Amino acid sequence: MVPILSPLSVWQLVLSVYLGVAVVDSGDVRAEAAPRAAVQGVALPVERESASDDRSADIVLVDARIHTSDRERPRAEALAIRGDRIVFVGSEAEAQEWRGPQTQVWSAQGRLVTPGFIEGHGHFLGLGESLQMLDLADARSWDDVVAQVHEAVKQAEPGEWIVGRGWHQEKWDAAPEGHVDGYPRHDALSAISPQNPVLLTHASGHASFANDYAMQLAQVTADTPPPPGGEILLVTDSVTGAVRPSGVFRETASALVQRVYQQAQRRRTEASKRQQWLDAIRRANEACLANGITSFQDAGSSIATIDALAELADERALPVRLWVMARDSNEQLDRHLARVRREPEQSPYLTVRAIKRAIDGALGPHGAWLLSPYEDLSTSIGLNTDSPTSIEETARLALREKYQLCVHAIGDRANREVLDLYQRVWAEAFGDRPREQADWQAWGRTLRWRIEHAQHLSPADIPRFAELGVIPAMQGIHCPSDAVYVLQRLGYRRAAEGAYMWRSLIDSGVVIVNGTDAPVERIDPIASFYASVTRRLPGGPEFFPEQAMTREEALLSYTLWAAVGAHEEHVKGSLSVGKLADLAVWSQDFMEGPLDQVPGAKAAATVVGGRIAYEAAGFKLIQE
Ligand SMILES: [Zn+2]
Repeated sequence: MVPILSPLSVWQLVLSVYLGVAVVDSGDVRAEAAPRAAVQGVALPVERESASDDRSADIVLVDARIHTSDRERPRAEALAIRGDRIVFVGSEAEAQEWRGPQTQVWSAQGRLVTPGFIEGHGHFLGLGESLQMLDLADARSWDDVVAQVHEAVKQAEPGEWIVGRGWHQEKWDAAPEGHVDGYPRHDALSAISPQNPVLLTHASGHASFANDYAMQLAQVTADTPPPPGGEILLVTDSVTGAVRPSGVFRETASALVQRVYQQAQRRRTEASKRQQWLDAIRRANEACLANGITSFQDAGSSIATIDALAELADERALPVRLWVMARDSNEQLDRHLARVRREPEQSPYLTVRAIKRAIDGALGPHGAWLLSPYEDLSTSIGLNTDSPTSIEETARLALREKYQLCVHAIGDRANREVLDLYQRVWAEAFGDRPREQADWQAWGRTLRWRIEHAQHLSPADIPRFAELGVIPAMQGIHCPSDAVYVLQRLGYRRAAEGAYMWRSLIDSGVVIVNGTDAPVERIDPIASFYASVTRRLPGGPEFFPEQAMTREEALLSYTLWAAVGAHEEHVKGSLSVGKLADLAVWSQDFMEGPLDQVPGAKAAATVVGGRIAYEAAGFKLIQE
């Protein structure tokens, strides 16, 4: 007897009823340009009424070298837009049929056009705030950092906080004098800022540096116990022998100083706080649009922030489309998830149906949770920052509310724990239903739960992403940025077989969502694209280049795959008829030509929903 429905399709039927979504049944979701069921099943509202008569478009874009990210038509020369949607993609000659008396003609002037890039893991407000702070990323030494702070101190009122971010001791030309584990001591910084508290966040976001005044305000001394999952680095004075804090706070210990800074911020007037918040949003939007980014997947905002963003979305004051992971206590999530939910069909500039948690820290500050000790710190296997039990509770909430769950995991232990945890929680939901391998995969591909970073994997866990349908959101640029200390922390063998396993993961059948983790890295997607296809370090050497992506894959990871990772590929991610007219025009064709010229590419124009949202100086889409 041959069953009419295979066990897999029965299971998928159950799932599609359960989730109310079309299950993508493709052995290869990567290849699906736009799952037809999803596109046909959802009536997409046209945001802007078209001014044209029946057969003509509002806009025809010509003279373009288009990479569509749509497998059915990967390349094109022209496209047409009505309202906020694409109505045609094809040849220059065919495009003429879409021209009417009202039609505006745009010319890409022979340039590369791609779908608008999707930043797949960043921190939107953090990005905006970072643009309000001292940017210490280019500092080549601790002296550079001190000099930058000194300049800011000269401009500041006494008592005013000086904040900065982006410093990284591994990127300095030499270790600072009297360093502890490569980290500086606060003395030089404290000497130039006696009346201003200073707080400088590490590039990884997983450590911070405070001056003496800030530590006084936070009442931190050598005797202060560090909070669980954190560390206050101490130094012994070579002359007096006294032990005191060095100024470095790792992982959760940063909160000791951060809290005092936040209190000072809260004491400001409501009007000034609101203004600063709006300024951060404005800066983040501008930075995205200037980089060809039309959608941004925000890796964690509180319920309160989501409410505030929803207000902006309703006022049409968010020019970049946000997809926000809710990050809050389980109690808050339990209470508010149903209320704050937003779908792209009704709310095209703000989607809310994902949750963010973290299970470990970052590799740089030895915070990544490993299966065996650090090569350069044999006493440590890193830090488990949030308890698996608490994350499991979040996972049940995610299932109940049909939210995607996105858990930050960097170390191999952290990644294994999260994969195990997903399976445990799904098994509960399965009850006594079948649990064949195909069931896990169907379940996972429907839920599309993610692991954020998935940076260092045990070889045994690499195939589990495909088997479970779990999506890794990996930031290409982290590879060359961190490579220097990946080898130190993990040693050669573990780095070779487990670090940034893009090729192995893609070959095993998963999609990778790319991004920059801005403001951890600059928001520039071209830098991350280049890193994805070369794994080349600033000095020239390549970090296990056999794991690199092809250019096509890197483009997909920033467009269609990123949309798949957000359950949004029916509205975005490729230049296909029916999808949102979100696209980027580039100063040069980074899909062809010499690789070493890729980093020079910049956005020439960015279009969101058929509107020109950005044009670089000297470039105009509309020819007079
Ligand atoms: Zn992040």
